[in-house]
Amino acid sequence: MTKQSSTNRRKIKRILSKVRARYNVIDRPFNESDFYHICETENIFLCNGERLRVIAKQMPDVKGIRFATTKGDVLIYLKSFFEGNFDIFTAMHELGHHFCGHKGLTNLMTYSTDSPKEIEADYFAELAMSGGAR
Ligand SMILES: [Zn+2]
Repeated sequence: MTKQSSTNRRKIKRILSKVRARYNVIDRPFNESDFYHICETENIFLCNGERLRVIAKQMPDVKGIRFATTKGDVLIYLKSFFEGNFDIFTAMHELGHHFCGHKGLTNLMTYSTDSPKEIEADYFAELAMSGGAR
């Protein structure tokens, strides 16, 4: 592991600890109802826009889209949500972008599994799905 990535991992762990404390999800994985509660509290809009659905259809590998507008509105689109099989990992990945303060559109135009933002969001989701920080 490089020095850079271990620094990022410490940063993500710190961010997630704060989220766990704020939402009282201390020693268990986050679940679907935590996700809805967090979205409601953080004013994150779960987007069911037809346009995003079209984009997702054209990009079958995209499981989720998260978009922060210049006005500060945050939108999350989850493909699995519309397919009726909620995918908590992708949901927490998109929340990872939110809590890590990533700007703009993630997971669509800029998507690359090697990009630092995606690695951070994946690590956030990985930790969020674990039993809790020790
Ligand atoms: Zn992402």
